[in-house]
Amino acid sequence: MTTSYRTEGTPYPQDAPVSQALFDRAKVIIPGGVNSPVRAFHAVGGTPRFMTEGSGAWLLDADGRRYVDLVCSWGPMIHGQAHPEIIAAVQAAAARGTSFGTPTAGEVDLAEEIVRRTPVEQVRLVNSGTEATMTAIRLARGFTGRSKIVKFAGCYHGHVDALLASAGSGVATLGLPDSPGVTGAAASETIVVPYNDIGAVERVFAEQDDIAAIITEAAAGNMGVVAPREGFNQRLAEVAHANGALLIVDEVMTGFRVSAGGWAGLEPVDADLFTYGKVMGGGLPAAAFGGRTEIMSRLAPAGPVYQAGTLSGNPLACAAGLASLRLADDAAYKRLDELSATIGALASAELTTAGVAHRLSFAGNMFSIFFTEVDVVDYDSAKTQDAGAFKAFFHEMLSRGVYLPPSAFESWFVSTALDDAAMETIGAALPFAARAAAAAGSKAKA
Ligand SMILES: *Cc1c(COP(=O)(O)O)cnc(C)c1O
Repeated sequence: MTTSYRTEGTPYPQDAPVSQALFDRAKVIIPGGVNSPVRAFHAVGGTPRFMTEGSGAWLLDADGRRYVDLVCSWGPMIHGQAHPEIIAAVQAAAARGTSFGTPTAGEVDLAEEIVRRTPVEQVRLVNSGTEATMTAIRLARGFTGRSKIVKFAGCYHGHVDALLASAGSGVATLGLPDSPGVTGAAASETIVVPYNDIGAVERVFAEQDDIAAIITEAAAGNMGVVAPREGFNQRLAEVAHANGALLIVDEVMTGFRVSAGGWAGLEPVDADLFTYGKVMGGGLPAAAFGGRTEIMSRLAPAGPVYQAGTLSGNPLACAAGLASLRLADDAAYKRLDELSATIGALASAELTTAGVAHRLSFAGNMFSIFFTEVDVVDYDSAKTQDAGAFKAFFHEMLSRGVYLPPSAFESWFVSTALDDAAMETIGAALPFAARAAAAAGSKAKA
């Protein structure tokens, strides 16, 4: 296959024939043609790009076009695609065998690395963030002997039945009401309150009993990026503890991305359980949850709360995760911080020049741009976005070689691999994208 490089200033064509042919085949045998909803481009329209390769900051699609990768597999790839040390670690592990269903040294190494970096004393490895949060709430219920869970509108914790109510990520992107298939019983034990609203949380605890836990994203990243107000997370811990409940802080997105210790490394919080995923798997399926030994020791086989997994602690995933974490040193976090600040500021400046109303929103080195005139502090304010402006912005970036999340409700993700050529490509695309957003916005008003 030949790689088609754009000549400077010339956008890629709107259509992508090879990706479209693959998508047509996929739609016959995979619902919606994808294995995770946001990949289908529903919110932005057009042909989802089928990627064939990645290297550093760059992705190559099936039509032979190159894109700067600002999705990073939705977070995991902080060192860029196909990092040589991570690939070498996976290859070496694969050569020794792919799964034994027995304990292995790699699991101990990865668990020790997580415990060293975070507030948790013990950790259990699982295969996805969904499993991590699902088990964390089971453990919280088992530990407290209570049933109800408090969650925040617009926060996403994976596709756990009890946590899909008013969820972010694809649920927000597709504008879905709460998911069919979740029983009334599961939903009725979930209490949803507005993000960043401590008063609402206090009222819930004043009015209801039997609450096992509050679950929150360490910083919201699945309704676009919305940082917690100062002291919000710690106040959640205090309210939970004053009422005999636990606080579960979901660091699946923030963990090992915003600092060596995740969000807890930026802002300590007395949470009881933490969940991790994404970065800690280095691009392979690995996730974890952890907390104080007093709570974690209630898990089977140490205790009665059941949890298991045929492939949990998989040798390849542990090797990739450990290699990824070992590369994530102070210099890497400094670079991620600088790159995200630079790209965010550049995008905001171009939008301002083009006269597009927007809010640039950071939580550590995660950020997103809301096409709105109101300050975004929760899901309701996030939903004031101009979807048409985002759509036009997204497609102009795509045609000029920058792959952004195909949804206005997702974070942009940077990697340390963003090189000069990648930054130049982003810088060259942004003015066009900003003007496209301006044109779409004024069309909507006319
Ligand atoms: C991605 C994500 C999850 C779900 O993780 P999966 O590995 O996709 O199941 C849970 N919580 C948060 C905060 C996430 O960003």
